[in-house]
Amino acid sequence: MKKHNFSAGPCVLPQEVLEQASQAVLNFNNLDLSLIEISHRSKDFIAVMDKAQALVKELLDLPEGYSVMFLQGGASTQFLMTAMNLLKKDGKGAYISTGSWSKKAITEGKNLGSIDVIASSEDKNFNYIPKGYTCPEDADYLHFTSNNTIFGTQFHEFPEVSEGTVLASDMSSDIFSRKIDVSKFGLIYAGAQKNMGPAGTTLVIVKDEILNKTGRDIPTMLDYTTHISKESMFNTPPVFAVYVSMLTLEWLKKNGGVEAIEKVNTAKAELLYAEIDRNPLFKGVAAVEDRSKMNVTFVLTDDSKQEAFDKLWNDAGVSGLKGHRSVGGYRASIYNALPLESIQVLVNTMQELEKLS
Ligand SMILES: *Cc1c(COP(=O)(O)O)cnc(C)c1O
Repeated sequence: MKKHNFSAGPCVLPQEVLEQASQAVLNFNNLDLSLIEISHRSKDFIAVMDKAQALVKELLDLPEGYSVMFLQGGASTQFLMTAMNLLKKDGKGAYISTGSWSKKAITEGKNLGSIDVIASSEDKNFNYIPKGYTCPEDADYLHFTSNNTIFGTQFHEFPEVSEGTVLASDMSSDIFSRKIDVSKFGLIYAGAQKNMGPAGTTLVIVKDEILNKTGRDIPTMLDYTTHISKESMFNTPPVFAVYVSMLTLEWLKKNGGVEAIEKVNTAKAELLYAEIDRNPLFKGVAAVEDRSKMNVTFVLTDDSKQEAFDKLWNDAGVSGLKGHRSVGGYRASIYNALPLESIQVLVNTMQELEKLS
């Protein structure tokens, strides 16, 4: 039987998507050829890329004037590309520091030019989302991480910026999990492997009018306009990752889209947090008002119970629950494709531990 997969990434994907993907690897569209051995310029693959982009537009309700790209290099390459494409030659970037991924983005920005960290939660090991900051009016852009995969915090309200400042977000671990107003953003990016597909491609959504304003020379492969003008086919795209992402987005659409999955995600998170709060053997790591609905971080109140708890959830077929080394304890990643039943299984093991004690 398949395990209950709480992995932080690469993440759980719908079983039907895995089955369709396996079939396409053997024989795609009845071509008697594999998806991964045909030309990316073939009409069959171009249809996949077009469909994937169209589904992103539809599911996120993208306004006119935005482009969708499927790139390589992971979200980590976007730390650099964001700065290269948005930071003006003598300009300034603003960043909010809410965890390891934000810090990596900050490092890339610093390497390129002048940046300000306008707010940080590092003083408490990133267990909350900073509030009460203001973004300088002269910032070219403000970059933040909408969901902090490692620490289990999430922005439930997005930062405000003035008209001349582009709002840019790393949404790797919560894209397609909740409704967002894309018109507030100039740039959104997300590595596929957290909530959209397998590793190997990164979704980038950009408002066309913010590009070409930096006055700097951008290397061809790092320039968004290269990829936009060639429909993400400037060079060979990661065909398998794009295909499986497309299947996952089709699955999401079939199941009611982002609005419907947001309700399920809320129910899943509530079920698990309720048990963490009720059960005296557990406590949450993140500030209650900033808790993530995607990555739930928690610890045992009594470390001596660790062995017993680990045995219980392992025996129940739960996988991927170990916390990140920088936080310790446990992390349940409860992305779109993880069913509510898996949460119930985990909650049951927490209650069994209580009964044993
Ligand atoms: C996993 C993750 C990344 C890194 O993604 P890669 O595709 O491995 O480069 C960046 N940001 C966030 C929020 C993540 O969860």
